[in-house]
Amino acid sequence: MSVILASRPNVYTGSPLDRADRHRTDEAWVAGRLADPASLWVPVWRARTLFRGLDEGRPEAVFLTGEAASALRMAGGPWAFLGLQDGIATFTVDVSAVDDPLPLLPDGAAWPPGVARFEDLRQIGPGLAPNEAAILAHARGLMHWRIRHGFCGVCGGRCEPRSAGHAMACTQCKAQHFPRTDPAVIMLVHRGGRALLGHSTRFPKVTMYSTLAGFVEPGESLEEAVAREVLEESAIRVGQVRYHSSQPWPFPSSIMLGFYAEGLTEEITIDPNELQDARWFSRAELRDPDAQGISLPRRDSIARRLIEDWIAHA
Ligand SMILES: [Zn+2]
Repeated sequence: MSVILASRPNVYTGSPLDRADRHRTDEAWVAGRLADPASLWVPVWRARTLFRGLDEGRPEAVFLTGEAASALRMAGGPWAFLGLQDGIATFTVDVSAVDDPLPLLPDGAAWPPGVARFEDLRQIGPGLAPNEAAILAHARGLMHWRIRHGFCGVCGGRCEPRSAGHAMACTQCKAQHFPRTDPAVIMLVHRGGRALLGHSTRFPKVTMYSTLAGFVEPGESLEEAVAREVLEESAIRVGQVRYHSSQPWPFPSSIMLGFYAEGLTEEITIDPNELQDARWFSRAELRDPDAQGISLPRRDSIARRLIEDWIAHA
């Protein structure tokens, strides 16, 4: 099979922010932006981010001004500099320590009571403007790391933030810790005009069939991880593995690396710990999943993109 190119950017990519890491270690610059009322803030509360327009079906991310965010910031949660947007500094702050952060927001046209609320980005993301979805994913992933790395993994000592929130330094052994992203491979296995999709009891819908996926292990190339996961889950052997695209998936801390893999064998033996079923589907069958009694993965997922781009490649 020839190379299948990504048809369009994946959801949660395309952030408009200049991450501006050159400024992160300039403490005077960071202090100036923290004090600047024009700086913008993305609050994260217990892994949820702030939206308005939900009830109207037009979700928008809420970016707070420095002034509007001041009460939330006084709660003392971790913060980080995300980057510059049109020259304006954008920060994120975790407010999980507060039981109900909404009363800490000032009243005003942007957020009268009931209009703005914290929700799970995964539920809202597909309906958001892509640039907003990317910024919220960035904020959520970074704050997830920060609130779980208050103590050193080497000696157990207390850690302090560095680099405007992008690193943690141990106060005891001086070890430096950096944000963690876990690579996961996700692959559409194809053979003779058919694609291998599986169903797991972990899937949100009982009808959903999707591409196989799994985490990369230490000492393993991405191609080896693809072959191992496919073999473990379905007993299918794969040959050539070709890269398609990647998708940040900070739910909580992954990046999905998408591939097409050529199946060398056809007989499926599922690993019942991983899958409930796996089958080969033709393009015609996947164009009309309802007729097969199945559903495809959510539209914002790279799994769906791999399937749709494979169908269109015929
Ligand atoms: Zn330490």
